[in-house]
Amino acid sequence: MSQDLRSGLVELTSRLIQFPSVNPPGYTVNIASFIRDWLGNLGFSSEFREYAKDKPNVIAKVGRGRPVLILNGHMDVVPPGDESRWAYSPFSGKVVEGRIYGRGATDMKGGLAVIMMVFTELAPIIEKRGSGTLILSATADEETGGHPGVEALVRDGVLIGDAAIVAEPSGSHRYYIGEKGLCQVKLVTRGRPAHGSLPILGDNAIMRLVRAIGKAEELINEFNRGIKLPSELMDAIRNSAEVYLEAARASGLNLTLSDFERVVGTVSFNPGVVRGGSKINMVPDYAELELDMRVPPGVSPSQVINYLRSGLSGAADVEVLDTSEPNYTSPNESIARLVHEGIERVLGTTPKPIIVTGATDGRYFRARGIPTVVYGPGELAMAHAYNEYVTVDDLFRTHDVMVYVVRRFFGIEG
Ligand SMILES: [Zn+2]
Repeated sequence: MSQDLRSGLVELTSRLIQFPSVNPPGYTVNIASFIRDWLGNLGFSSEFREYAKDKPNVIAKVGRGRPVLILNGHMDVVPPGDESRWAYSPFSGKVVEGRIYGRGATDMKGGLAVIMMVFTELAPIIEKRGSGTLILSATADEETGGHPGVEALVRDGVLIGDAAIVAEPSGSHRYYIGEKGLCQVKLVTRGRPAHGSLPILGDNAIMRLVRAIGKAEELINEFNRGIKLPSELMDAIRNSAEVYLEAARASGLNLTLSDFERVVGTVSFNPGVVRGGSKINMVPDYAELELDMRVPPGVSPSQVINYLRSGLSGAADVEVLDTSEPNYTSPNESIARLVHEGIERVLGTTPKPIIVTGATDGRYFRARGIPTVVYGPGELAMAHAYNEYVTVDDLFRTHDVMVYVVRRFFGIEG
């Protein structure tokens, strides 16, 4: 990568950070126009696709026919929070000692800048080659579910391909091949009201809920003992446990590798909100719990819900709040192998495929059967944090790996 390209990449990242594309509300008009103009100045046309007012997505394509490779990044960022806690203004994009600071530096304007650079560098070669299509997609609304972003674009057939790379912050030495699914439910118990001084006349819904919560935890533990994970994911689950363990050690928590293998590879259990009762001297007749569970690949949220429903029958009602399927791309898929090989060859380190506990837009590609790897600059711990930054070195490393991967994908020599 030439010195000009390197300084261009740093400048582009900094420039993208300067658009406060905060979500909510998640408007992307300004940053999308900038990206369209930036591409236009380099001679590439692009189009806007808008599924929600003022939230355009930008799509650029070069080449023709198959294979089709999609490079994807989202343009929106989470709010900066308390601005007084930032050393530099969150939308300054300030470059200090090898770091670029600002909201979205890691998640994921750094990654967006990388795929924009890679696209414009390799587009002329792909265009000339005549077989194969490279798609660049800068999308909206990832931070609030990606519905008018990647989900709509995949549904409409705009983003359809043989493989996709989502440049979310995996860090240059790792890549994500899968993510857990979501299973959020409400447990509801009902009783009979009475005066608090004569509880035997009533039926206490809170006491029912307390027992139901204990029972639900037992049921999930029981369910977890029967889980069969896809065997090709065992390494990835161990790698993920190592990453989470490292982060936990940094914050002084005394947990072990097997604790984290369990949390990645089984259904997690987190009672998040509890409500019930109206007055201290009354026997409550209603109580509820909002329960957040994350399910590993190989398990469907509906299996967990059915298991809870039958186990809690008569003790509590189970209402579904929100679910999403866990998903992964086999480490043996060619795009996963290419990213693996790219990290190995370009960076000279042994890369680690990982399963993450949260969701990315990658799930929409995978749901459509498109093998998808998440690979981009930054650190998980920096996403959504105060004083968020991305290192210049990580930008260069992921850029170089990405160039290798795209070249190999299209069979370009050199
Ligand atoms: Zn992100």
